Formats: sequence, structure tokens, C-alpha cells
Amino acid sequence: MDRVFRPRRHSVPVKVGHVVVGGDAPVVVQSMTNTDTADVKATTRQVAELARAGSEKVRITVNNAEAAAAVPHIRERLDMMGVSVPLIGDFHYNGHTLLADEPACAEALAKYRINPGNVGFGRKKDTQFAAIIEIALRHGKPVRIGANWGSLDQSLVAALMDENAARSEPWDAARVAREALIRSALESAARARELGMGADRIILSAKVSGVQELIAVYRDLAARCEYALHLGLTEAGIGSKGIVASSAALAVLLAEGIGDTIRISLTPEPDEPRTREVIVAQELLQTMGLRAFTPLVTACPGCGRTTSNFFQELAKTVQDHVRGRMPEWKLRHDGVENMTLAVMGCVVNGPGESKHANIGISLPGTGEAPVAPVFIDGVKAHTLRGERIGEEFVAIIEDYVARTYPRRG
Ligand code: SF4
Repeated sequence: MDRVFRPRRHSVPVKVGHVVVGGDAPVVVQSMTNTDTADVKATTRQVAELARAGSEKVRITVNNAEAAAAVPHIRERLDMMGVSVPLIGDFHYNGHTLLADEPACAEALAKYRINPGNVGFGRKKDTQFAAIIEIALRHGKPVRIGANWGSLDQSLVAALMDENAARSEPWDAARVAREALIRSALESAARARELGMGADRIILSAKVSGVQELIAVYRDLAARCEYALHLGLTEAGIGSKGIVASSAALAVLLAEGIGDTIRISLTPEPDEPRTREVIVAQELLQTMGLRAFTPLVTACPGCGRTTSNFFQELAKTVQDHVRGRMPEWKLRHDGVENMTLAVMGCVVNGPGESKHANIGISLPGTGEAPVAPVFIDGVKAHTLRGERIGEEFVAIIEDYVARTYPRRG
């Protein structure tokens, strides 16, 4: 297939624990907990859930002395559970104090996230920023300098307003705000470099909540530096709105080769698991063809030709089966994440779509013979009928996985 996306932008790789961000490394999935970090048990449990869902780095809030004291215990418990996911500490205002007072926290974290707009006020801002960088240097940790639209450094905004007023053709307010966000990230990175931090220890982000603005900000930021970039639409929202807005913004940037690590900042619906943001991030990367995490299930939307809701049930059964089996498959079957499946509602597009997948099934539509042809690697291999079509199709998938993807080791 012709290359549709632009090649990945060059960035300096950064090691976050055992995970590489940037350079030639695949785009990394990150998530964030919403537990009280001081609650060691709850936070450990949620970090483990996010990691098992596929999050490759997990960020936790470190907002007070209790949270900072809890971090090494969370790390220890995760290690005992065999969960090695790197932990990132999210600091605002008091990070310099918390990291200095709790060296075990500074050591247990794999990266510190600093918001340059929330490091401190007035002259203290520079000394507190420098204190965090010095601690990071002492512990050999990288940092993410994460500017955010909602917490811009107001002194920088004021300076840029003055600069803009002196222009013969002043920029509009949106452009000035974008420039403030980018300069906040770049100038903080330059300050960290002066303090001795290498480019291989710095990741940048500049988050906003609007899709168009995010794309504009990151295009500009990507053109102006070689730092690895963390992408995310901040405050994306709840439900489908959050998913669509994040995907729209991140897909454009990823297609342009911009972005080394991503987070989907979803507001969970009541009772929705936190892991949803991880699944969405993985599905975004996989549907774009950038990474493979789990076999993809293609399903038609169904229409007036679909005879019953059995078709929807089968699509869901197959999707759930694949997700449920993936942790074990991943350990035993190399390449299984690349398998493709199709579940189709009738013969109009069913056999055609089935032939494009590794395994595909077309259920009988209205007025069609009550049989379900199954294609394996483009060849019709079975015809299922009767009450047990779902179970038999799942058994065919299991058999295919066992035969096609060799056991590891
Ligand atoms: S494959 Fe058949 S059931 Fe599915 S949307 Fe197309 S016509 Fe409708």
C-alpha cells in the first residue's frame, strides 16, 4: 500500500524506566489514575488495572506529603505483583518540596511531570523549577514539561501581549495564546538544559481542549524542537464526545508523524472503568495502522437485512472473547495481535469482507438460507448452521490461533 501518512518526525529518544519514548520507538500509550495517591491499596489496584489493560506508563497525582510518602509503597506493591509499569509523578506548586522531603518518592518515580505554569509564583517560580530539575538530575530521571492552556504562566502571557502590541501587524488573540503555550514549554526546556539536563531526558507537551487549536499548537511545537512529544487533548470530555474529540485531534497529528506518546483524557461515565482511556488509545493507534495490540474485529453496522440481534450478539461475543483471551495469547502466540476478524450481517458484503480478514463469518440475512459461511485466509472453510454458530465460530478462532501463531520459547 502507498504511504498515506507522513514519516515520523525525528525526536530525541527518552528512557522512562524501561520504556523508550521517541526516536524509533513505537508510539507509547499512557494513562492516569483518579484515586487518592495516599490510598496505597486503591492506587496500586488501579495502576495494575491500567497496566494490564495495556497502559505502558501510568501517571499518578503527587499533591501532598501523604501522597509522596505513599509512592514508594505503591511501587513496591506493584513490583511484588509483577507489574513493572513506570510510574510518573504529577506535580503542581509544591513538587520541589515533596521531592526534596521524600527521596524515596523521587527514586520510585520513573519521570516527573512539571507544569511550567504551576511551578510557583513570581521569582520563586525559577528557583522551584530549578530545584525539581536538580532533583531529577540527582536521581537520573527524565521530566515532562507539560504546559497547559488552563494554567498558562500569566507573566509570559503579559510579556507576549506587549510584544504583540508592538508588531506592525499584531497577531490575533488565539495566536498569541498558542505562542505563549509553546514558549512556556520551550523556554522551560531551555532552562532545564542550562541546568544540565540533556535533551534525552526531556519530553514536552502543550495541551489545549480544542481540536483545531491542539493541531495548530503541536504542528508549530514539532517544527521548533526535537524533543519527544506527549500528545493529548486536555479535558476532552465524557463518553463519545471525549473519544471523538481526542481521536480527531490526535489522528491528524499522528498522520503527520507528530507524537511519541499519547493519552486520551476521558472523563469516565459513572461506573465506567478507568481502563476505557487505555482501550481507546490502543484502538486509535491500531486502526491507524501504527501499532497492533489485539486482534481487530470488523463488523458491519447491520441494517434491514439483518434478521435478528444475534448478529450484534455474535460481534460482541467475538470482541469480548478476543479481549479476554489476549493476556494469555500474548504470552504464548507471537503476532496474534495482527489477526483480523470479520463478523458480517448478510451476504451483501459478508463474503467479500470475510475474505479480507484472517477469519470471517457472514450470518444469514432476511430471506437467505439459514447458513453462515466462514472464510479462513480468503478461502471458504466451513458452513455453520443451527443454534451453536457462536460457540463453533469461537472454536474456529481458537484453533486458528493455535495453528497460525507459534508458541513462544
Ligand atoms: S453486510 Fe448485509 S446486514 Fe451488514 S450492513 Fe451490509 S447489507 Fe446490511
